[in-house]
Order: sequence, then structure tokens, then C-alpha cells
Amino acid sequence: MQYHPKSDLLNQRIILVTGAGDGIGREAALTYARFGAQLILLGRTESKLAKVQHDIAQRGYRPAQIYTLDLLTASQQDCQRVAEQITQWVPHLDGVLHNAGLLSEITPMADIKLEDWNNVMQVNVNATFMLTQALLPLQLKSSSSSLVFTTSSVGREGRSGWGAYAVSKFATEGMMQVLAEEYKQSNLRVNCINPGGTRTSMRASAFPDEDSKKLKTPADIMPLYLYLMGDDSRRKNGISFDAQPGRKAGPAE
Ligand code: NDP
Repeated sequence: MQYHPKSDLLNQRIILVTGAGDGIGREAALTYARFGAQLILLGRTESKLAKVQHDIAQRGYRPAQIYTLDLLTASQQDCQRVAEQITQWVPHLDGVLHNAGLLSEITPMADIKLEDWNNVMQVNVNATFMLTQALLPLQLKSSSSSLVFTTSSVGREGRSGWGAYAVSKFATEGMMQVLAEEYKQSNLRVNCINPGGTRTSMRASAFPDEDSKKLKTPADIMPLYLYLMGDDSRRKNGISFDAQPGRKAGPAE
């Protein structure tokens, strides 16, 4: 995507990113901070979040807050508690990027262990839903808030071996569509991003034999991440966007 926002695109905006300690989430957090946003970094590994918080401070951006939450074990109460803590800290949320995700083993449907299936559904669907529910009141207090879910090409067209992950991303697309319709008269817009093959550790575990140099980096795909958090996307709702339009799904060629 060609998008050249002004350097103050996200000034005064408060944005929460899940899975902010690594990969695409880390890059999104740093990018949003660079464009003026105040960040709330949520993730599983405190040391990684602290490092991103430190990097944000060192670059002179607005100070970020961190919340450690393991989405694999998070209950509805845990999500509500995080939302209550955030409410003590900020008056509203102008953006939430649900980026954290679990891939699990690439294996035929017939061989998926129930535990693996449940884990993927818990992180990618249930916890994302619970956190969305808990954070909605804060988003609705904003005069223009953006809720962004992270999908995948296998969340639009099933692919052999991608089992629970693919099904969870279909569910993510469904969650986005339902919410987009429910809030279409409000100041909240709801959309999905499909990053497309991107150079991260999740991608390397899915395609260990791939030449990662042929992949876009998280930094390369940030234009769409910025567009959806800024006011230029104010009227976009219920859309599943591609960060790499035209890219053929599957291994890099
Ligand atoms: P990474 O594995 O690099 O990063 C995932 C992030 O999610 C990490 O910060 C990780 O935390 C966090 N996370 C994982 N499990 C949990 C959990 N239980 N609780 C809290 N946080 C958790 O993945 P990517 O950056 O590649 O992926 C980001 C999103 O993009 C995912 O939703 C993925 O499905 C999607 N995607 C990625 C593609 C790609 O090619 N990279 C393609 C299509 C979609 P920790 O750092 O502690 O491990």
C-alpha cells in the first residue's frame, strides 16, 4: 500500500496493541509511537514488553504503559481487570490492534490434538473476544476509535494442514463483520488486516525452508497499520484489508 501520512497522524491518540513484544505487534507499537500515539503494550512476556517500552522512551516518544496478560490462560475476569486498570490510566482508547496470535503445529485435521485445537481457539478467538468486550466501553468513549483484528489468507480460503489456525482466522473475520455491523452508527469502526507473508518468528516456524529474505519485513507493511489507526480511514468499516495486496498466498517465490 502506498500511504504517506503526516508525521503527526496519531497525535493525541491512545492505542493498545496486543502481542506488542515481538514481530508485527512490536513494529506496529513503535510505528504508532513514532507518529505521536500514546501506547498501551499488552503481551505475554514482560521482558519483551519492557524492551519495547524502553525503546519508545529512548526515541523520545510519549511514554508507553505495559500490561502482561497470557491470552492462553486469560479468563473474562482477567480481561475485565486489565480494562479496569487501563481505565485508571487513560480516559478512552482511540485504537485497539488485536495482533497476538498462536499458530500451533501444521498438521492434517485428522491428526490435530484437541489440546492444540483448544489452545489456538483460546488465544486467537476466545481471548480476543473477551478482551474486545472488556475494552469496548473505553473505545466507545473516543470520538473516533478503530478496532483492528488480524486475519490471514487461510482465514478466507482454507488450506490443507492449517487446521485450527485457519478456522480461528475465519472466526476472526466473522467477529469483525458482526461488530462492524453492530457499531456502524457509532464512532467505532471495525476492520481486519491480513499482513500477508511477513518476516517474523511465527512465519519461520510455518515455513522453515523458506528464504526469509524474500519476505516483507514488519516495517514494510506498516502503511496499512497506520492508515487504519488514523483519521483517513474514519469511514472504513467491515472490511478485510491486505497489507500486501496482490501477494500470492503461500511460500515466498
Ligand atoms: P510472532 O510470533 O512474531 O508474534 C506474536 C506475538 O503474539 C508475540 O509478541 C507473542 O508474545 C504474542 N503472543 C503469542 N501468544 C500469546 C499469548 N498466549 N498471550 C499473549 N500474547 C501472545 O507473530 P507475527 O508477528 O508473525 O504475527 C502477528 C499476527 O499476524 C498474528 O495474529 C498472526 O496470526 C498474523 N499473521 C502473520 C503472518 C506472518 O507471515 N507473519 C501472516 C498472516 C497473519 P511473545 O513475544 O511473548 O511470544
